[in-house]
Amino acid sequence: MQYPQLHLSAPEIAHHRELTEAFANKALAATRNHRHDRAYLRGQGYKLTQDKNGSQTYQRTCPTSSFEEYFMTGICDTTIDEMSYGIYTETTHDLRTLFALTFKNDFMDAAILQTCETQTEEDPVHWFGIKYARLYLHASIFQPRDTVYSELSGTRVDEAGYRTIFQVRRTIETPLFPAFPHVVRFDHQMGWVFSELPDRRIQFTIIGHLDPHGNMPAWVFNKMTPKKHAASCTMFSELVRLRRLVEAPSKDTLWVVDGSPRRCTMCPKNTKHWKYCRCCGQVTCRKCLLTISQPLKVTWSKADPARHISHPMDKAVYCKACFKAPPNSGMSEHTQSKHSSITSNDFDTALTVSSSQGSFRDSALHSTASEGPATQVMVTRAKSLQDVNEVPQATLVGAFNPAVQESLAYQRLLVEQMQRSLVVQQNITNSQ
Ligand SMILES: [Zn+2]
Ligand SMILES: [Zn+2]
Repeated sequence: MQYPQLHLSAPEIAHHRELTEAFANKALAATRNHRHDRAYLRGQGYKLTQDKNGSQTYQRTCPTSSFEEYFMTGICDTTIDEMSYGIYTETTHDLRTLFALTFKNDFMDAAILQTCETQTEEDPVHWFGIKYARLYLHASIFQPRDTVYSELSGTRVDEAGYRTIFQVRRTIETPLFPAFPHVVRFDHQMGWVFSELPDRRIQFTIIGHLDPHGNMPAWVFNKMTPKKHAASCTMFSELVRLRRLVEAPSKDTLWVVDGSPRRCTMCPKNTKHWKYCRCCGQVTCRKCLLTISQPLKVTWSKADPARHISHPMDKAVYCKACFKAPPNSGMSEHTQSKHSSITSNDFDTALTVSSSQGSFRDSALHSTASEGPATQVMVTRAKSLQDVNEVPQATLVGAFNPAVQESLAYQRLLVEQMQRSLVVQQNITNSQ
């Protein structure tokens, strides 16, 4: 089971849209006023409660709740175009990726429940619909929280031509999607606003109010909230790079078959404590790696589709070279391997070659692979996985049936085992 889709009626949607847009306008006005008048927030009853790591947090009491309203702001080192890509999510998997990167270990799960409006040519950030999120607020010492909320995002351009993008969220009450057992439903009205500055960097603002409900004392929440957001500058600055990295097609590891030590691509002297980068497939040492939490593609149990996997997250290792120049960012050709002495554990290509006498001759993959015996793949650099990925997705999916896929998976395993034993054999030969 995936999360059920909601089908709110047109009047209900119009009602939520109106309230969400009203909040967006309030958030945009507040950030604009603060930018032009540093005394504005004080006049609105906000007090500065934290000034750290280049970001400031202001809080004020809320007339209807003991949980304070907050306004956090700072400068982050990225562009408005990058951020427009970074925060836009129109699939559940995109949303999970974004939240995994922003909430890190506190993120549990998220889903898109109803889509009403999506991006347009003029506004790549435009979106309205209903989403769901489950996460820990302030670590796992309190019960997890969840919320069903309406989200509106979009772009505004000011008189001087500078762009501001916003994404605001507002809890909605719906009996159609009750909270999970042992999960407390929270109530919030929160927004992100990113304004383009004359030097092309952006000023971010997190603004709003959140009532966690359940057993969380207000004084704990009010004190913890600014601490939790102290790293927002870094988080927003890195968000887009991380997202591009996570979304890059994962490369299978590049196996060293000549028996030479595995050297870190960033600091080649280091041959110890290495791992493989998921993005470029090359060796990276412990000092030069980056571990990124990201959602699994399938978050429900295959054996029992009604049951969700309780921790739908995966941790993957990347090298810092890939982080600095993520694929599709137009920054570098780093991910194109320059190593001619190593063979690719490129299963898709290898297995097509190894099965060229079999029944897979007609598969879509076949046309992308070179002819030849399987052993040849072991000692020459196979075609990069990226080339294989360039085959239109629809062709690949359409060309397979479950039985073929199962067989492919088994052959992948065989190729992997053969390659491993080859490496071991060569190591033995070299050490003799
Ligand atoms: Zn890498
Ligand atoms: Zn290194």
